[in-house]
Amino acid sequence: VSIFIGRQAIVIGAGMSGLGAARALADHFEQVTVLERDTFPADPVPRPGVPQSWHLHGLLGGGLRAFSELFPDFETDLIGADGVPVRAGLDFLFEIPGYDPFPRRDLGWVTYAMSRPLIEQVVRRRVERHANITLRQGCRALEIAAGPDGASASGIRYETKEGRQETLAAALIVDASARGTLTLAFLKSLGRPMPEQTRIEVNEGIASALFAVPDNFSSDWKGVFTIPAARESSRGGIMVRVEENRWMVTLFGRHGEWPPGEGKKFLGYAQSLRTSTIYSAIKDAKPLRDVVRFGFTENLLRHFGRLDLFPRGLLPIGDALCRFNPMYGQGMSVAAMEAALLRRILSALAAEQDPLGKLAPAFFAEAQVLIETPWAISAVPDFIYPETKGDRPADLESALRFEGAVARIAARDPAVHKLMVEVQHLLKPRSVYREPALVERVKAEMAEAW
Ligand SMILES: Cc1cc2nc3c(=O)[nH]c(=O)nc-3n(C[C@H](O)[C@H](O)[C@H](O)COP(=O)(O)OP(=O)(O)OC[C@H]3O[C@@H](n4cnc5c(N)ncnc54)[C@H](O)[C@@H]3O)c2cc1C
Repeated sequence: VSIFIGRQAIVIGAGMSGLGAARALADHFEQVTVLERDTFPADPVPRPGVPQSWHLHGLLGGGLRAFSELFPDFETDLIGADGVPVRAGLDFLFEIPGYDPFPRRDLGWVTYAMSRPLIEQVVRRRVERHANITLRQGCRALEIAAGPDGASASGIRYETKEGRQETLAAALIVDASARGTLTLAFLKSLGRPMPEQTRIEVNEGIASALFAVPDNFSSDWKGVFTIPAARESSRGGIMVRVEENRWMVTLFGRHGEWPPGEGKKFLGYAQSLRTSTIYSAIKDAKPLRDVVRFGFTENLLRHFGRLDLFPRGLLPIGDALCRFNPMYGQGMSVAAMEAALLRRILSALAAEQDPLGKLAPAFFAEAQVLIETPWAISAVPDFIYPETKGDRPADLESALRFEGAVARIAARDPAVHKLMVEVQHLLKPRSVYREPALVERVKAEMAEAW
């Protein structure tokens, strides 16, 4: 049974976290309005507000589970949209130094590969089915307005595509704009301190291309992840089969090793990777569009939960809260998991006194726990490169050796392999590695390697 918390809620941005959040809010607000500055394309093609939508976007098991919690039978929609089923542990080649590829085993669950615009469209269609959610395209949020108490958020000033400025009042505003600049500007306007930020600067270049899978191509895998031999090189690549029988290829490198944006040079870079798998597959394949580049500067975690007071009626989510190095494919999944978390928290608080007063502290505390695993998996190992800037964890070397030992045991032991991939897919928290029997085995493995 839904208990209404308020009349109107607003979500800024119809990206992955905004769509998920709108669904979460729909149970507890009479009306949910999503303001999106872009116009939605009719076909699943990239749009300007999501510049990363030209690049490969993998959906992890944890993200799929969260979307399925928000949208029952979500997998059926992905299959219906031509998403490519990928069996975890089996259908992907993980080319890791020392294992080319890592042993393959069917670990018992499936995810789906497709382009970012397609997955977004599938989610958007589900959101559109909710009678009390309105998606307003071509509406750019300009400012969060303060209530008469001068301490809470009370509405949004926005601009329509005709250039008209309008204001919409709301009991709750979710900032799913990815950049979170309106939230920061609002804190500033109230004279409040900015949140502390943890930043890990990686200076990574990414370039992506789309190819038609050649008619005569056959393989027993659907994707490849060629991981570089750190620290000698940062050049790597990912290739995945997506809808309409296409290959999406994303190459990446750091600092002086950014992949080029021109077709022939892109192929040359693919040829320079540690293994020839990706290059051999694409060298004679037909490119379907120009190569597109992206510069990723830093992992960024904003500690809103550490602020003494966070304005009532406001909640940042998704990339506005935490942005991860895209190489590990976690951002959309974390966005979906945060939306599912928001829904659970709203349901729990709805029957209590003053749910909106309790919402932000409860959400930040639980989101922090949720973020711990993806942050540990992505941002921390980025320090393997000496050029990475940020607060190096004191136990970096032992943490990296621990990961290496887990992987070596996983290569031999199917149960540990399953556990490792469940952690990588955000289906289980990293704390499962603290299980005493496993810790003993990892320690023994670490001792043997040294
Ligand atoms: C190169 C690259 C590759 C990536 N690969 C993966 C991957 O493989 N797997 C994965 O899970 N994640 C990946 N990510 C991360 C993923 O794209 C993000 O984490 C995810 O989209 C975050 O969702 P979001 O809703 O916070 O932001 P977005 O999905 O970026 O959505 C933000 C939305 O807000 C809108 N908006 C912004 N400002 C305003 C405003 N003022 N008014 C109205 N609307 C506004 C934008 O137009 C946009 O629609 C990748 C990222 C990059 C950069």
